[in-house]
Amino acid sequence: MSTLGIVALDAVDHALAREWNCENLLLERHRDLETFAYSGENPTTLEVWTSVATGVGPEEHGLASTGEQQQWRNPVLEYASTVAPYVLPKEARVRIGTWLRGDAGGEDGDVEMTLRQTSHSHLFRPDGRVVRWWPGVTPGEHVSETWHWLNLASSGEITDEELWRRLYGNAGLEAGWLQGMGQTDVAVAGVHMHVLDAAGHAFATRPDRLRQVYERVDRLLGTVREHVDELLVLSDHGMQVAWIDGDDEPGFHSWRALASTTLEDEPPASVFDVRDWVDEHAATGDGTRAERQPAVMDTTEEQLRDLGYLE
Ligand SMILES: [Zn+2]
Repeated sequence: MSTLGIVALDAVDHALAREWNCENLLLERHRDLETFAYSGENPTTLEVWTSVATGVGPEEHGLASTGEQQQWRNPVLEYASTVAPYVLPKEARVRIGTWLRGDAGGEDGDVEMTLRQTSHSHLFRPDGRVVRWWPGVTPGEHVSETWHWLNLASSGEITDEELWRRLYGNAGLEAGWLQGMGQTDVAVAGVHMHVLDAAGHAFATRPDRLRQVYERVDRLLGTVREHVDELLVLSDHGMQVAWIDGDDEPGFHSWRALASTTLEDEPPASVFDVRDWVDEHAATGDGTRAERQPAVMDTTEEQLRDLGYLE
């Protein structure tokens, strides 16, 4: 059975992906993906990804943002985001806390914040479909980690180098997981990556640095493309930048979301169409596979006991 990998590539901006010829973000076919705003003026991560998964709006899926939007609305931060990366004022940290459920862990990288999850049905529920790190349907710790690390970088507790080591580390885990799923019989595997959102907020006035992150993520997706039969790449919003005419608020989310695919069909047109699109294009099984099988294990229980794996 062929696997359709879905990459929820947060904040990848269709115009920037084209500007920098990111072939693995654009794939064979790409188009603008219509997105929406609910709690604020611009699209927000949790609201949109939950809608992508469920096919319904925040009123139905129940996850309205409470802080992610507002934090970038703060005038201090707006100023900061145009002059220096990682300068998040204390107020923004508090608001990140209200957006995320739970408390920040004390240790670096040990963040105990998780995203809320919808109780609505979603596209990853059927058998043979799997999902990791997707906002709205999983705890999404990597999103909390990203914000936590940006906070640490903004307060000078970690260096720029350390910040990007951590962000690329998570990006590699996410991409690697999807590569692994490409070796299995799952029909649909979805994963969310937050690295380009962090990069967009940090480098909205620095085309060279933002381009570098786009190119590295593009390379990473190239390795995924080699290992997964078919891909659907989506974003929830883009990012306003200082060098695009009409972008009045660099560092704020833009409306230039992207949908691209390796399949020979138009990508979905709207975030609300993705669920149906996936149902239409995902493998449903050819009927030749056996029913649920127990895992095959040639090693006997006695051998496992001898090896110390069993008590
Ligand atoms: Zn987002």
